[in-house]
Amino acid sequence: MLLANGRAWTEVRAEMESFKNLDFDWKRGRLPAYIYYLNEEILNIQREAYSMYIVENGLGKNRAFPSLKKMENDVIQTGLSILGASDQSAGIFTSGGTESILLAVKAAREWAKHGGKKKKPYKILLSETAHPAFNRAAGLMEIEVERLPMREDDFKFDLDKLRSALDDNVIMIVGSAPNYASGTFDDVGALGQIASEYDVWLHVDACVGGFLAPFARMNGRSIPDFDLRVPGVRSLSADVHKYGFAAKGASLLLFTSSDDKTFAHFALEWARGTYQSESNQGTRAGGAVACAYAVTNVLGEDGYRRLAKMTTDTVDRLTSGINDIGGLEVIRPYELCIFAYKSVDPHVEINAVADEMGSKGWFIGRSQRPAPSIQMAVNPVHANICDEYLADLSASVAKVRTMGLKSHFDHSTY
Ligand SMILES: *Cc1c(COP(=O)(O)O)cnc(C)c1O
Repeated sequence: MLLANGRAWTEVRAEMESFKNLDFDWKRGRLPAYIYYLNEEILNIQREAYSMYIVENGLGKNRAFPSLKKMENDVIQTGLSILGASDQSAGIFTSGGTESILLAVKAAREWAKHGGKKKKPYKILLSETAHPAFNRAAGLMEIEVERLPMREDDFKFDLDKLRSALDDNVIMIVGSAPNYASGTFDDVGALGQIASEYDVWLHVDACVGGFLAPFARMNGRSIPDFDLRVPGVRSLSADVHKYGFAAKGASLLLFTSSDDKTFAHFALEWARGTYQSESNQGTRAGGAVACAYAVTNVLGEDGYRRLAKMTTDTVDRLTSGINDIGGLEVIRPYELCIFAYKSVDPHVEINAVADEMGSKGWFIGRSQRPAPSIQMAVNPVHANICDEYLADLSASVAKVRTMGLKSHFDHSTY
């Protein structure tokens, strides 16, 4: 609350440092989500770059802060170059995946209005694994969303169900690369064919994979086709604040054709003349742009390849270690960086294992489908904790089994 008289910064600062004890210890890899972190070196680059532009406002990039425009364009070019763009492509720098998706939905709606062939109410067809941001955006625009059950054998978008659900109201379909729920890539090639056949907008949600999958592929991993090169793809979201290792507040929305990008723009003639912005924000953080510029330039292709290797090697170590613990099994398939594991022993309740791990200081991600499971989104900091994690997990499973522990976990309040 606001004090009548301010306090000394040294005192407030010390207090804020102590607040951090309330949180899980992300620097020691205790979080399986929310953070993308490797070490103090990258963290300090983020801090310095962000604070250099902490006052500048992205809204004024055209007139007042050409430096921000220059850096923003560079980050967009980086995204375009790793995600299969052509000379016709273009992008928008946004505050996060949720905003990138919001603008993609808006662009698809404007495109549908423009074409005049789709019936209202407009509808988006998704697999149940697609991110909630699509419902959030559609809810703001009075667009309906239908979530179809994922294909049972590989947790991908069920193309048969999609074909039967397509009608004249559908303006958009979505493929995830990968999705956050199961960690698999939807078949973007097949979705592109369907999009062309039915004349619907195909968005690829590569918020997770955008700054990881291209480098994992360069490292020799087999990655399904998912980017702007796939015929039928009109837009793609890629978060720079996830595997791009920028500070929070940085994502890209890329368009195969720059003509489509104008569908996302906002402009208004008002008392002062013309107000316009490409994203859905007014004032926006210059620091987020500066930080994305700094990190992408400092890391370069070799840096991202190194981070991608650490991530995928860590996935391999953790998944094989988990499969070696009797009673647990990693759910297959998963692709890239997100996986989940379940119990295959009736005497080991997976949510009780999660509770035990929680009491040892691990923040545990839980998932419900295709099976109650513990989920991890791996990032490079986890390279340091594999052995500790597996030892604690093994001890937790043994304790749950011998003591017959049950969980009171309720996923509806999670
Ligand atoms: C994180 C994420 C989003 C949303 O991005 P935010 O940056 O959290 O707004 C969208 N899609 C997927 C697959 C994600 O993992």
